[in-house]
Amino acid sequence: MSEGTNYIGLDLGEMSIRSALTDRAGEILEIGQQTIERKDPAVLSEQVIDIIRRLREKGRARGYDVRAIGVGVPGLVNPASRRVVASPNLPPLEHADLHEEIRRSSGLDIVFDNDANMAAYGELTCGSAVGMKNVIYVTIGTGIGAGLILDGKIYRGSLGYAGEFGHMTLDPDGLECACGNQGCLETIASGPNIVRRTRERLFRDRSSSLSALALPEKGEMTPEKIAMEALNGDDFSLMIIEQTGKWIGTAVANVINLLNLDMVVLGGGVMMAGDLLLHPIIQEAERRSFASPFNHCKIVAATLGGQAGVIGAAMLARDAT
Ligand SMILES: [Zn+2]
Repeated sequence: MSEGTNYIGLDLGEMSIRSALTDRAGEILEIGQQTIERKDPAVLSEQVIDIIRRLREKGRARGYDVRAIGVGVPGLVNPASRRVVASPNLPPLEHADLHEEIRRSSGLDIVFDNDANMAAYGELTCGSAVGMKNVIYVTIGTGIGAGLILDGKIYRGSLGYAGEFGHMTLDPDGLECACGNQGCLETIASGPNIVRRTRERLFRDRSSSLSALALPEKGEMTPEKIAMEALNGDDFSLMIIEQTGKWIGTAVANVINLLNLDMVVLGGGVMMAGDLLLHPIIQEAERRSFASPFNHCKIVAATLGGQAGVIGAAMLARDAT
């Protein structure tokens, strides 16, 4: 393997495409983010191919040769057909054979996987889970996704759809979820649902510094604002964050008992609450899991932030092609 070999990692999101050119160690040489021009299969494929072409040119100008490409997508990927079979947040992916189009236009090997699997692989190879073998990476944002690493490898399950941590049922009588079930973790602890729970309670309790935000015309409430108010010492916001931590910690305990993991890595926008959220998660996980597997399992915040997906995609391209 020449020293001038590098890799491209792409991370397709609901609104934008992140991209990176990395070296063999996952060090980022170029990084970019583009808004998705149009949610149309042909336009999306064109845009992705164009991003790859530009990154290859930049690599060549520095004397590097791209060896393989990794692409993370927001949806379920069938590993056999390399097609996206379900992508509620980016439906055109279901109608484009993106893998084949990139392969044909670039002539390179491509790895194609779910975005949470890619981010999990990023944290495993270059982030907080380096050296671990059995890990779950959970991303808590607009939705709740997860990637599982078992015995050092991404675990995809029989058909490739494993890791749906956000759709674990926590409240049998809870709200209806986008997946069709009710009471999934996502209906309680995703960013929009943290806001929903906060609004519902604020109509009953007006003592919080967030009360002004409960009425839509007074400003938009976001999980970040709730976290900020909690950090500033608002008891109500703190209570919401702690409750959220209890729900997530309950789900984490179930996974620790089921899989006897080395590490649980928590990432995504909602984790900007930091220790305020991490501590109740750890406490609740401890309360609800067996002592030995809990004591062995580290529960930590992710370290790569929004770059986990592109780094993981590039590293999976390095290791799986
Ligand atoms: Zn669900």
